[in-house]
Amino acid sequence: MRGMTWTFSYGPRLVTGPGSTSRLAEWLPAGPCLFVTDAPLRALGLADAALRALDESGREARIFDAVEADPSRDTLMAAVAAGEGCASVVGFGGGSPMDVAKLVAYLLGSGDELEAIWGVGKATGARLPLVLVPTTAGTGSEATPISVITVGGSLKLAVNSPPLVADWAVLDPELTVGLPRAVTAATGIDAMVHAIEAYTSARLKNPLSDLLAREALRLLAANLQRACDSPGDREARAAMLLGAHLAGVAFANAPVAGVHALAYPLGGHFHVPHGLSNALMLTHVLGHNLHAAMPLYAELGTLLDPELEPLGTQAQAQGFVQRMEAMCRHAGVPRRLGEVGVTAAHLDLLAAEAMKQERLLVNNPCPITEADARRLYEAAL
Ligand SMILES: [Zn+2]
Repeated sequence: MRGMTWTFSYGPRLVTGPGSTSRLAEWLPAGPCLFVTDAPLRALGLADAALRALDESGREARIFDAVEADPSRDTLMAAVAAGEGCASVVGFGGGSPMDVAKLVAYLLGSGDELEAIWGVGKATGARLPLVLVPTTAGTGSEATPISVITVGGSLKLAVNSPPLVADWAVLDPELTVGLPRAVTAATGIDAMVHAIEAYTSARLKNPLSDLLAREALRLLAANLQRACDSPGDREARAAMLLGAHLAGVAFANAPVAGVHALAYPLGGHFHVPHGLSNALMLTHVLGHNLHAAMPLYAELGTLLDPELEPLGTQAQAQGFVQRMEAMCRHAGVPRRLGEVGVTAAHLDLLAAEAMKQERLLVNNPCPITEADARRLYEAAL
């Protein structure tokens, strides 16, 4: 029967707590370790405790810190070359270093060719031991079997296979207390979009992904403003990291949909950071989905605001969309595409590009046509 047969994959084993990064060596085998990060994080000294832990354990840490936002195939292959002979891989940073680390660990361990494993379920070999340490509460990449790489300038290709799930994920709130407000806000909203889109996914959603998506959204919504206003609040930071992680496990099972499909072209053509592009399209796509997803949005509405309870399904669902918009405004992220350089002249291009995200659009609770996409971008201008 529909809805009664489902599968679920848990994520990596978890280690949490302030300062947990200093225990990094406990989860790695002996031998040299490839440490994948980016240059700004290193310059901030954020990786110091992790690198000290490797050093004190007697392991050689081979540092690859050339990962850029939206990492390219060339960067990935340079990291693979740097990791030749390593016994393990650590990915340290936001989604980009973690995505590169996952694929480096797989390519070095399996010996597979990258070209043979694009897509879903194609990577079936063994990877090197892998630990992921997120420094933002957003992408949830430390929880997922997905790695997104940019090929030939703007084409984003993904590898989505179980061996990319890490052995361990380390959720250390000390690493996120220094995040600028704009990054805290945009990445936190991205994580909320993961939870919402997993909860309403037209494919593969199930009781366990629902459970995680609801708890993720509850944690993120309750702590986003606190983390923005009081960056040093470790309780709020820990809750955001856990929320982003649970949302990651949820969408690794019940995939994201229309918000992400319309957000990707903003990243590809206007270099808008991933979290911000999702925040910009969020309430427009929720409005488009309102009718099809109404009972589910109503449930999320009452989850965030029990006072909506007596109002009935439609008002609860509308209340949910309004609440998400209000949260974006209070967090202070830009609300108009015009603020990131988009003009009316770009609407056709964006709508055409969004249609290429077929793998995401199929998960949306209702269809999004090219005309719909254009209208939604126009509304967001
Ligand atoms: Zn996302």
